[in-house]
Amino acid sequence: MPAQVLQSESSDPAEALRNEILAGLYSRSENQRKPDLTRKPEGSQRSTESGIEKPNPHSEHRKDFRQGTAKHIGYTELVRDGVFIRKPLEGSVFERTSPVQFIVLHSTETKHPANAERVIDSWNNRGDNGRRLNPGTQFVVDRDGKIYTTASPDKATIHVNDSLTRRGVKNQNSVGIEIVRTGEQQYTYAQKMALTRLVSYLQDRYGLGDGRIVTHGQIQPATRRDPVDFDVAAFNKSRRQFRQNAQTIEQQKKRDKGDV
Ligand SMILES: [Zn+2]
Repeated sequence: MPAQVLQSESSDPAEALRNEILAGLYSRSENQRKPDLTRKPEGSQRSTESGIEKPNPHSEHRKDFRQGTAKHIGYTELVRDGVFIRKPLEGSVFERTSPVQFIVLHSTETKHPANAERVIDSWNNRGDNGRRLNPGTQFVVDRDGKIYTTASPDKATIHVNDSLTRRGVKNQNSVGIEIVRTGEQQYTYAQKMALTRLVSYLQDRYGLGDGRIVTHGQIQPATRRDPVDFDVAAFNKSRRQFRQNAQTIEQQKKRDKGDV
């Protein structure tokens, strides 16, 4: 069950409850990961001397990302903290000539079941290195919810066809996110959770309203319809709920600080 999966991630009952609320917004009928009962709770490490819980900055950052309060944490730090797994895109990463204005969602639609590493390998093995034209998104969300990154979202990559896009979306002003699936597979619960957290983080970092989150199919309808069979309405609803919860946590943090 999703709630159990999420509870195993956290020792914080309030966070577990919030995640349970969030879980209710998604269908529970899809294939789920079994909870890993051997995993130790994150968010704190026990001091051997005093027995007092001491915050661990790495797991604090992971917790911030999970609950949507990671706006203050940069990309490089999140790579270091293991929130993003770095596997660089070779040859098609560019300096931006315009600021990030859009987030474009994709699905990989591989013929055979794949994982994020194989998807990125396939981009890097296009043989276009000499021309620096390998395609790829900055982020790839794997089946198990792990978030891979090929490049900083501050850099541009090639994930849409600029000559076919609508609404002013271009590679230069957008961040691309691939969700790993074949046409036969459902999106996993873990993927949808990871996507909610990642998109919310990017919205905060770049100051993007909900209208700036688009699908490849919406902005390049002549040739693309991905992410295929993705329930955009459910995703938007759950993300808004997630962001409201995150705001509440931020406000509580501010109040706590004020009391000191
Ligand atoms: Zn696409």
